[in-house]
Amino acid sequence: MSPLIIALDYSDITPMLALVDCLDPSLCRVKVGKELFTRYGPDVVRRLQSMGFEVFLDLKFHDIPHTVAQAVDAAASLGVWMVNVHASGGQSMMKAARAAIELHQYKTLLTAVTVLTSMVAEDLREVGLNVNPLEQVVRLGTLAMAAGMDGLVCSAQEAVALRTHLGKQALLVTPGIRPADSAPDDQKRTLTPHEALQAGSSFLVVGRPVTRAAEPAKALHDLLQSLAG
Ligand code: C5P
Repeated sequence: MSPLIIALDYSDITPMLALVDCLDPSLCRVKVGKELFTRYGPDVVRRLQSMGFEVFLDLKFHDIPHTVAQAVDAAASLGVWMVNVHASGGQSMMKAARAAIELHQYKTLLTAVTVLTSMVAEDLREVGLNVNPLEQVVRLGTLAMAAGMDGLVCSAQEAVALRTHLGKQALLVTPGIRPADSAPDDQKRTLTPHEALQAGSSFLVVGRPVTRAAEPAKALHDLLQSLAG
């Protein structure tokens, strides 16, 4: 299986299904986020699974430990490939999420978001954190791995620092990926698929370069070709 995860950022299920019809589930996984899940619920996950896709359920849970554990249990019981939480929910919350996975021996991978890449130093200061964003990413990443997460969702730019601090074991899931010849859209700092893998990414989240391509299957194929550099 390739490291590519296609972000299904759709508000309507019809174009989403038209897109996934063009994709080969043996070549990529798919990511279902808050928008699609809030509109269509678990059925959208089941539908994708019935088409052969492994699903990353990107709901970024952040709540009291018991609630997060129950939510992770609900996600894992759907048979999703990966689910995530916010590392800033703290060690107890992450350990409760891990315990929920262990209790039923789910195979679902559990990852944590460190600092949202939309946040800069000023945003952190406003919520009382007088730290450099990268320092906070490394701090939360270290805490998340100590709490039993399988890995982290982070920007590819942060991957090098996280690999240095956390070693090889952590799975690093990175968005902000753009093929060399494609538009950045609203992404500020992008890496090519090859650069992201070189930086230490394990899985690459790609949305619009595939979902908005005239020929999505070809865009996916070209991305796969470009992984080698
Ligand atoms: O279309 P694009 O490739 O920019 O989509 C990237 C996906 O990754 C979107 O689902 C976006 O919400 C998500 N994401 C991101 N940056 C982050 C975290 C998640 O772009 N830091």
